[in-house]
Amino acid sequence: MRLLDSLLKTILSILLVLVLGLAPARGGEPAWKVGTARTKITPQEPLWMAGYGGRDRPSEGTLHDLWVKALALDTADGGQAVIVTTDLLGFPKGLADRICAELGKRCRLDRSRIMLTSSHTHCGPVLQAGLTDIYPMEKFPEQPARIEAYSAELVQKVVDTAAKALSATEPGTLWCGEGKTEFAVNRRNNAEGQVEEIRKRGEALRGPVEHSVPVLAARAPDGAPRAVVFGYACHNTTLSFYQWCGDYSGFAQLDLQERHPGMLAMFYMGCGSDQNPLPRRTVELCQKYGSMLAGAVDEVLAKSLRPIAPRIRTAFEVLDLPFGEQPTREELEEMAKKSGYTARWAKRLLDELDAGRAWAKSYPYPVQVWKLGEEQLWIVLGGEVVVDYAIRFKSQFGPRTWVTGYANDVMSYIPSHRVWEEGRYEAGAFSVYGLPAERWCEDIEERIAACAERLAARVK
Ligand SMILES: [Zn+2]
Repeated sequence: MRLLDSLLKTILSILLVLVLGLAPARGGEPAWKVGTARTKITPQEPLWMAGYGGRDRPSEGTLHDLWVKALALDTADGGQAVIVTTDLLGFPKGLADRICAELGKRCRLDRSRIMLTSSHTHCGPVLQAGLTDIYPMEKFPEQPARIEAYSAELVQKVVDTAAKALSATEPGTLWCGEGKTEFAVNRRNNAEGQVEEIRKRGEALRGPVEHSVPVLAARAPDGAPRAVVFGYACHNTTLSFYQWCGDYSGFAQLDLQERHPGMLAMFYMGCGSDQNPLPRRTVELCQKYGSMLAGAVDEVLAKSLRPIAPRIRTAFEVLDLPFGEQPTREELEEMAKKSGYTARWAKRLLDELDAGRAWAKSYPYPVQVWKLGEEQLWIVLGGEVVVDYAIRFKSQFGPRTWVTGYANDVMSYIPSHRVWEEGRYEAGAFSVYGLPAERWCEDIEERIAACAERLAARVK
């Protein structure tokens, strides 16, 4: 019955697109309107680079530029929405809130209709209030003010770029599909140094992975490509040097834009917080992964796109997500005696206690769900989401479900129940992000899944 139902839905959406979307090429008004815009966000002066706690100085140059890009979608019935992608580690809540408030006011856009994503490149700039404890900037007193100025400028650039895309929509068609590439390796289950050996022996790498490449394509009525939005579930950490670049996804976007002049290529991170591109650490490998990803997207563009009927429904909820254990004063005092970022985190939390401030017991966690056409479900989660969420939602909502992570606010890792129980880095790492707890509540996965189900029911 389910199969029949989905077959009927597919036939219905193809008919709808044929009637409403493609017919205009022969003379009427197309039902989708799409708009694109992009702005360069490469810092113009040396700035601390985001992601690794081990860097000891600011940036020293540019391998390739960083961008904010926007794709605006508009349906004939007045439904508008915008997808923003960025070559950044992730938006901290303060900046995401400022961007959405300003964009919402300027373009009369409901919060649910703004999707703010990041590529999680570790060769982009540190942003205001983003993981501040992990960066040893003491010897560079000019950095905090520069980071603040860059962040303020970035907010404006993101708002302007999204507003420009929204105000420049033109008739077009929208398509979706899925490709595959396999360079992501489960980093919790495979030792980095052994991956090449395991592959050479012809053995399978261990642990859950999600190698699909979701593709959303916008075209002009004559079929010319306007934009492609694509994702992949793998940490954007091939490189760890001191030059600005988008890492593998930066290369993938450049590659696709070269293959299709006039098309904007936009990347977002999937649920890849426990996945790494392995082996890594050379520009050649980074370029190779970029071209593997671009190749996977290109194959979908050439062969297997499905039309999306001109309808968009969106839902957004701020979930009150409880923390688990919080550290005691004694534990913090012990940690503060050591060196490194855990000590800086402990000292900051102790200062808060001393100032009489109570720590929050939970966090306002963003969950967003979109439905494009009659069947393309898109679940969009905040934080560094582990791969189990993509696997779970695909089995729950069907294989064509897309799951984006690192969106709308990147506040910490988001473990599944399995990872929470297993422990280790991705199960907590709250001292990296500066949150006032050791880890999330035990039923984090069920709470997030229940919220996604609520929202999925609303966009039906
Ligand atoms: Zn990460």
